[in-house]
Amino acid sequence: MGIDLIEAEVRALSVAGGEVVGVALTEGTMVTARAVVLATGTFLGGRIFRGVEREPGGRINERPATVLGEQLRSLQLPMGRLKTGTPPRLDGRTIDWGALEPQPSDSDPWRMSPMSTGPRLPQLACAITRTTNETHDIIRDGLATSPLFGGAIEGNGPRYCPSIEDKVHRFGDRDGHQVFLEPEGLDDHLVYPNGISTSLAVDVQDRLIRSIPGLRAARVAQYGYAVEYDYIDPRALNHQLALSAIPGVFCAGQLNGTTGYEEAAAQGIVAGLNAAALACDLAPMTVDRARGYMGVMIDDLVLQGISEPYRMLTARAEYRLALRADNAEARLSEWASGYDVLTPARLAHIRRRAEMRAAAKSGAIVHVEPDIIREVEEDHRYAPYLQRQAVEIERMRRDGGVKITSDGETLRTVPGLSLEMIERLEQAGPMTLDEASRVRGVTPAALAALWLHSRKRA
Ligand SMILES: Cc1cc2nc3c(=O)[nH]c(=O)nc-3n(C[C@H](O)[C@H](O)[C@H](O)COP(=O)(O)OP(=O)(O)OC[C@H]3O[C@@H](n4cnc5c(N)ncnc54)[C@H](O)[C@@H]3O)c2cc1C
Repeated sequence: MGIDLIEAEVRALSVAGGEVVGVALTEGTMVTARAVVLATGTFLGGRIFRGVEREPGGRINERPATVLGEQLRSLQLPMGRLKTGTPPRLDGRTIDWGALEPQPSDSDPWRMSPMSTGPRLPQLACAITRTTNETHDIIRDGLATSPLFGGAIEGNGPRYCPSIEDKVHRFGDRDGHQVFLEPEGLDDHLVYPNGISTSLAVDVQDRLIRSIPGLRAARVAQYGYAVEYDYIDPRALNHQLALSAIPGVFCAGQLNGTTGYEEAAAQGIVAGLNAAALACDLAPMTVDRARGYMGVMIDDLVLQGISEPYRMLTARAEYRLALRADNAEARLSEWASGYDVLTPARLAHIRRRAEMRAAAKSGAIVHVEPDIIREVEEDHRYAPYLQRQAVEIERMRRDGGVKITSDGETLRTVPGLSLEMIERLEQAGPMTLDEASRVRGVTPAALAALWLHSRKRA
C-alpha cells in the first residue's frame, strides 16, 4: 500500500520558509512531509472535568497534546476552547433488562455500501428507559459541584447533545428525559446510556443512575466526564481544509470545531485527499454545497466559523431534496472517479449499476436491483420540486437587497427557521438578505426561508 504507520506523539510542526516540511515526534525523530493533516480531536490542550476533579487529558486515561497546542498558539493561529462530554458506562450484567422496553435492531438488512455482501454480524437489542423526578432532584442537588454550572469550563458545548444537568436546568418542567441503553459490543459488557452525558461528581452519578427504572442495581464501570480542548477557528481554513497561514497544513475533525463521527470522517476524506494531491502535484478537490453534505459542512465552517461544536444537520442544507442517502452513489461516483480515487472494482460496480439506472429510467426494470428502482422512483417524485428549488436559489442570489425582518416575534412565524437561526438573527438585527447572509452562523437554508417570507409579505 505504500503506507508506513508510526505510533508516536507529534510534538511540533516543522516549518521552514513559512511552509510545513514535516513533524517532530516527542522522542526526537523528524518525519519529513510536504503535507501534514492535523486531526487532534479533543487532545489539544485537553482538560477533563468531573465534579471538583480536574486533570489534563484528551480522553479518560489518555494524555493531552500539550506541547503541540502551545506551538500552534505561538504561531498566532486563531484558536479557542470548546467542550464535550460523555455519559457514565454501565455494566450491562447489572441492568434489569426484563423491566425495560426493548428496542430491537432494524429487521431490514440495510448496509452503508451496496458493495458489502458478506455475512452480517449478530444484532443486539437496545432498551429504553427514562429519568425520573427523583433523578432530577438528585441532579439539582449536585449542581453545586458541577464544573459546567460553577464556571470552571469556559468552552461552549454541543447544543444538540446537552448534558443531563443542562437538560434538567433548561427544561425544568419535564418529568423525564429518554435514555437509550446501547450495548457497546458483542464481546463487551459495557452499556452506553445515551442521553445522560454528565460531568457531575461520581457520588451524584451513582445516585442519579440508581434513580432510573431498570438501573436500580446498575454498577457504573466508568464515570462520565466533560473534556475541554483547543480548536482552530475554521475560518482560518480554505475549502480544501488547508490552513491558509501555513501552506501544507490541513486540519480535520474536532480540531475544526465539529463534533461527531461522520463530521470527522467526511473532513478526513477532504483533508486527506487534498494533502495527497498537494504532495503529488495534483489538482485540489473541493465539494460544493449542491454535491454533498460534506460540502455544506465545510462551506459553513470556513465561511461562518462556529461558536459551539458543529453538527451536520440536514436542515443546514438548502439542496436537501437532491442530497439523499439513496442517490449518493449516482451523485458522487462519477465525480469521484474524476479524481482517480476509486478502485477498479468499485468503478466496475458503479458502471454496472449506472447501466441498470438508465434501464430503470427508460422503463426496462427487469433484473434491475430493487434499491435502484426505489432511487429512480424518488428522483421522479421530487423532479418538480428540484426544478422549483433551482429557480428559487437563482432568484435568491439576485435579490440580496431584499428587506427582511429581524424582529424576534415575526421571525418565529417564518416557516423553516430553527430556534438557533432566530436567536442569531435577533441578536445581529440585519436589515437585508445580504446583511443576513454575513451574520455568523446564518445558513443558506435560513436565508432561503427569509427570502420566501419577505416575498410573500411583499
Ligand atoms: C467522550 C466523547 C464521547 C463522544 N460520543 C460520540 C457519539 O456518541 N457519537 C458521535 O458521533 N460522536 C461522539 N463523540 C465525538 C466524536 O468522538 C468525535 O467528534 C470524533 O471522534 C472526532 O474525530 P477526530 O478524528 O477529530 O478525533 P479523535 O477521534 O478524538 O482522534 C484524535 C486522535 O488524535 C490523536 N492525537 C492527538 N494529538 C496527537 C499528537 N500530538 N500526536 C499524535 N497523536 C495525537 C489522539 O490520540 C486520537 O487518537 C464523542 C466525543 C467524546 C470526547
